[in-house]
Order: sequence, then C-alpha cells, then structure tokens
Amino acid sequence: MNVRTCRKCGRMFNYIAGLPICPVCREALEAKFQDVKNYLRDNPGAGMNEISEACEVDKAQINQWIREDRLELSADSAVMINCESCGASIRSGRFCDKCRMNMTNSLNKMAKDINAHAATSKDKSKTATHGFITRS
Ligand SMILES: [Zn+2]
Ligand SMILES: [Zn+2]
Repeated sequence: MNVRTCRKCGRMFNYIAGLPICPVCREALEAKFQDVKNYLRDNPGAGMNEISEACEVDKAQINQWIREDRLELSADSAVMINCESCGASIRSGRFCDKCRMNMTNSLNKMAKDINAHAATSKDKSKTATHGFITRS
C-alpha cells in the first residue's frame, strides 16, 4: 500500500497513480474540468479571466488543462496560453509552431553536428599521432 498526503487538502490517501491528490479532490477537479469544458462549449469566445471566475477554477489549472490538450479551444477563442520557449500566444500544447519547427531543425542540426564532429576528431587524432611520432 502506498499512502500519500493529498497535495490539495492534505488528507492521507491510498495512492495509485497520476497526480498525488486524494480521490475526493480528484473527483472535484474532474467536475471542475467538466464545468470549464461545458462553459467553453456554451461560450466559445470566453476569455481566461471570465472562465476562471465563472467556474471558480484557478487560471493556472485551466492553463494546465490546455497544455495537456484536454481542453479544446475554438479558433476564435479568447483564451491564450504562452509558448514555453518564446512566450508567443498559443492555444494548445507547450510551444508555438515556430519554436516546434526550430526545435525539430536544431535536433536535425545537432545530429549533423555530432557526425561532423566525429569526422573532425578522427582527423585531429591522426594529426596528433603524427605530431607525436615526429617529435620522438
Ligand atoms: Zn484531497
Ligand atoms: Zn515559441
């Protein structure tokens, strides 16, 4: 048995998986999530402040649901979260398209650099060995 303290209410509970919150808080949070989801469906143009006040949910919590891609925002939604890399306004996930693209590119570049580096260091070791031999 894995007993933990609930991160929200401090109660001890039998931990199974996921967030360290007790079943009571988990259910309450899930109900809030449904509230927000319904509110967004009825008010697709609602902003973050409005949703937060209407549903009595932390903006940080709404942010998290959006990042987890659990909340789907319509194209004309006023709700925006920020790209974790450049701070640009986005509607889902963690990064904007530009940063996602940059990241893919830099990953490719890194792979290329590693190959290039491997090639150069081979050349260098040849030179070093040669230098050593000449000196002795
Ligand atoms: Zn709790
Ligand atoms: Zn970005």
